[in-house]
Amino acid sequence: MLDRGRVQLLVRLTALGFVIAWLFSDALRAWVPFWVPFVVLLGTEAEFVLRARNEPRRPPQRRHVPGPEDADLGFGELVEDEEGFRFVPPPPRPEPPRWRRAAWAAGAVAAAGLFVVAARSDRASTWQALPAAERAQLVERFASEASIIARRPVTLRCDEGYAFTGAGSDTLGIAFPDAGITYLATSVCRDLRELVVRGRAGERQGEALVVLAHEAIHLGGERREAVTECLALQAAVPLGVRLGLSEARARDLAHHEYEERLAERSAIRAAYALPLTCRAGGALDRSPGDGTFP
Ligand SMILES: [Zn+2]
Repeated sequence: MLDRGRVQLLVRLTALGFVIAWLFSDALRAWVPFWVPFVVLLGTEAEFVLRARNEPRRPPQRRHVPGPEDADLGFGELVEDEEGFRFVPPPPRPEPPRWRRAAWAAGAVAAAGLFVVAARSDRASTWQALPAAERAQLVERFASEASIIARRPVTLRCDEGYAFTGAGSDTLGIAFPDAGITYLATSVCRDLRELVVRGRAGERQGEALVVLAHEAIHLGGERREAVTECLALQAAVPLGVRLGLSEARARDLAHHEYEERLAERSAIRAAYALPLTCRAGGALDRSPGDGTFP
């Protein structure tokens, strides 16, 4: 027979691993509702409690407190005074450490926190959860925006099959200039949708605008990554305005992305590091002399 304690531990670890993988993977989130791992975990915990209640109670054991006969073993000591020998018991044992209870409470709080985070990043907020008709309409809209930036008709896809983006990849978009097609990560498509449909204008929207503009500029013929990124930061402003942002907000978001790129000094992304000419009045400034950049 299988040791139930081990099964319990295995199920707990598996469920925990699954929840963490689920949080970090769009693909997994798209297919599994967030409550599934929690229900599995809750089921095993309930089984654990019920089993304990059904078990026969062990008879309470009598405790034998050390007495005078244990003094020579080091438990307490015999002291001599006027009335003869007297046993002085050892000092009482310290209370069980409080950190155990604190650790348990911290664990419970962490589990609750995980639940809230999972609930908020539920599949309802993924691209795939949108109705097919809405997705098709949005893709058409994004493609026409990409065509404006690329100055040629191009095809755009949201990479629902995770052929080029998604789990295990930090690629948010990819362009094939010869074929005139670009694939965007579904998270980018969703962020753009939140801008178009709900008017959301957060940092995620800023990044998504730059990604769309970046791939479109590749489709327009520019292959150098750093130059493409610099042009994308500038193209993101009118793109954001066309998708519903105010001019000021679009500029704010693009500027935030620009500063992030400047602060980034990653060796891995060295090819993407902005060139020195990517500044107000620099060779890559598409509107020199207007006093703003990007
Ligand atoms: Zn690129």
